[in-house]
Amino acid sequence: MNPSAAAAPRLLPGLLRFPHGGPDIDFTPAIQTADDMLAFAKKHACTILDLTFVDVPGTLQHTSKPLHELEDVADGGAGFDGSSIRGFKQINESDMLLIPDPVTAMLDPFQAEPTLSVLCDVKDPLSGDFFDSSPRTIARRAVKHLQDSGIADTAYFGPEAEFFIFDSVRYEQGQRGAFYDVDSSEGIWNTGKEGGLGYKIRNKEGYFPSAPFDTQQDIRSEMVREMERAGIKIETFHHEVATAGQAEIDMERDALVTMADKLMRYKYIVRNVARRFGKTATFMPKPLFGDNGSGMHVHQSLWKEGKPLFAGKEYAGLSELALHYIAGLLKHAPALCALCNPTTNSYKRLVPGFEAPVNLIYSARNRSAAIRIPTYSQNPKAKRVEFRMPDATCNPYLAFSALLLAGLDGINRKLSPGAHTDQNLYEMDDTSLAKIPHAPADLSAALDALETDHAFLTESGVFSEDFLAAYIAGKRAEVSEERMRPTPSEYFKYFDA
Ligand code: GLU
Ligand code: MG
Repeated sequence: MNPSAAAAPRLLPGLLRFPHGGPDIDFTPAIQTADDMLAFAKKHACTILDLTFVDVPGTLQHTSKPLHELEDVADGGAGFDGSSIRGFKQINESDMLLIPDPVTAMLDPFQAEPTLSVLCDVKDPLSGDFFDSSPRTIARRAVKHLQDSGIADTAYFGPEAEFFIFDSVRYEQGQRGAFYDVDSSEGIWNTGKEGGLGYKIRNKEGYFPSAPFDTQQDIRSEMVREMERAGIKIETFHHEVATAGQAEIDMERDALVTMADKLMRYKYIVRNVARRFGKTATFMPKPLFGDNGSGMHVHQSLWKEGKPLFAGKEYAGLSELALHYIAGLLKHAPALCALCNPTTNSYKRLVPGFEAPVNLIYSARNRSAAIRIPTYSQNPKAKRVEFRMPDATCNPYLAFSALLLAGLDGINRKLSPGAHTDQNLYEMDDTSLAKIPHAPADLSAALDALETDHAFLTESGVFSEDFLAAYIAGKRAEVSEERMRPTPSEYFKYFDA
């Protein structure tokens, strides 16, 4: 037995705190190679290796080994049965390999045993190639395509994921009934609850009164501390607009694949810190009727040789290249929705009136435009475009890759984004508003758009036709299943019709 492992303290879940030390965190990535990873695991007396990877819908999966297997895994990968993983099904060739990427190694703060967690690529053991349908493979190909194009060498992404932290959630659906029921001590519906203390957050007034309205600062702070200990640098965090515990934590931008990795860890940390506090967190885009949903605005910029390419003398301080990029995003927005807003629930957020970006137009001011150009800073390095449509139920490897390819298509074809608007779209008359194209009304319409408009994803070989066909078929099955279910609100409206 490894003596240092035997001497390691046994900790209860949630008590493996401050593994990277106190407040001063060095964000320089320290682990680059398999040897660094081994040294890091030894230094922290890890006993368990947790191999994590992401399936096609975007759920983090994991499988574990005792740490003594790390050297073998670093050399030859770890075998697993790909046929049981959503989106990976290839029944004839189900044997696949997980190849840990050392730069993603971190300590998992939610396990009692000191655990080294690492994100993996997926390889085909026979050909030795990266597995075509693994989202991380697709994201790697997108970055390679950008670099080969000569347009830029780095695409930075900065997602602003929103989520709710609820006290409890119940749901059930069967043949004779269906319901959901969420609760939060902050919920405006709890003003009349016996023993209440008031200070409930009214609908759309959660941005951002201080305590005792806001009861979740400690939870968000702990999420932020765990993220930073995991090497994810945070810029800002706050209570979000909706009642009942809506929150937002914003990461410093990073390159495409790294940011998709970070977002997977972000969601893992949000969910598990909430659980530590006896709460539950959800990234579901529209969990509450009658208040804001949760989006994930995605800030993007292209850089070459350390220079920002989006700053210039055009509208809102943008470059011509940035305007073409915007045009690409707008042109392909309906198809992008199928990857960036991939659930039937996503479209319950994309309705007017709840700060949701339904209008396919760009603006330096208006938050109901699909694209906003933030103007807080005049620094060219901060110049970026914010695509406001996505939500955090998307698979970030697929969504970021598709966004980049849409922007590059705009650049390659020198597309024009048309006129911007600085008008308040909430106050625009219906006839003018009707002239602005809208987000697809539902997932089915978004899938139709992706079916007809996907050459921008496949021409470069980043997404394959087969992958997209399987993706669309899987999502269509979700839509059909959902369509067959009567809902409580249909009972309310039609039972006596
Ligand atoms: N929650 C809103 C959305 O669905 C955004 C609110 C904000 O501007 O941050 O996109
Ligand atoms: Mg927000």
